Amino acid sequence: MKPEEFYQALAAKKIDLNENQKKQFEIYFHELVETNKVMNLTSITEEDQVYLKHFYDSLILDFVDEKLLTEKLTLCDVGSGAGFPSIPLKIVNPNLKITIVDSLNKRIKFLDGLVNKLGLDNVTLVHGRAEEVGKNKLYREKFDVVTARAVAALNVLNELCLPLVRVDGTFIAMKSEKATEELEDATYSVQVLGGKVTDQKSFELPNDEGIRNFIFIDKVKDTPNKYPRKPGTPSKKPLVK
Ligand code: SAM
Repeated sequence: MKPEEFYQALAAKKIDLNENQKKQFEIYFHELVETNKVMNLTSITEEDQVYLKHFYDSLILDFVDEKLLTEKLTLCDVGSGAGFPSIPLKIVNPNLKITIVDSLNKRIKFLDGLVNKLGLDNVTLVHGRAEEVGKNKLYREKFDVVTARAVAALNVLNELCLPLVRVDGTFIAMKSEKATEELEDATYSVQVLGGKVTDQKSFELPNDEGIRNFIFIDKVKDTPNKYPRKPGTPSKKPLVK
């Protein structure tokens, strides 16, 4: 997907990027590939692949949840790596207030430089493990929306993400093909952590690049204080019955 095709694919979804936004994606691509020469950020570096598998892929969230496109929501992106999905979402909807959590400081430093070059405001970068950030009063149960792409299996992810969602907010897990199996293994963790699965949506990537699945988990009550458990425990001992 060349940049022109990216603009057209978004326009087909009623997202018309202005010149500044197009420029921001261009700068993002440039920064990502240049920094990737000296720091491992992504294995995807060809322009048409970055536009499809990082930029467009991140923005599918706007197609499956239109609130993200216009509203002034607080959004936390757990395990954002080089900024996916939250930075593309922020470029498209400058009203979003985003917080990015990642345990690798070099990625947070990359994002710090990127956010400055893109001229984005209302972006908070937090270096830390989601298990610790989810205990911190500044962030616990504070966000309207929490997202995570390619971070962990859903029964682990629930413990990293649901503590950050405010009651009545939503955790949206971005998954590839195996979403249904992952959901079966995650039913217990959803319930224990105060969530309720409310929706599941699928979206086909262009050019036969596969299916993306989105699992919507609403926060229906507070997460018990003992969660998240200490760093590493959610993945070593996932919450399963
Ligand atoms: N979301 C990005 C994407 O889709 O390209 C990055 C995915 S990358 C495979 C996973 C990221 O999650 C890494 O940057 C890693 O440092 C971060 N991560 C993994 N476990 C974490 C945890 N417990 N707390 C915070 N970040 C975590």
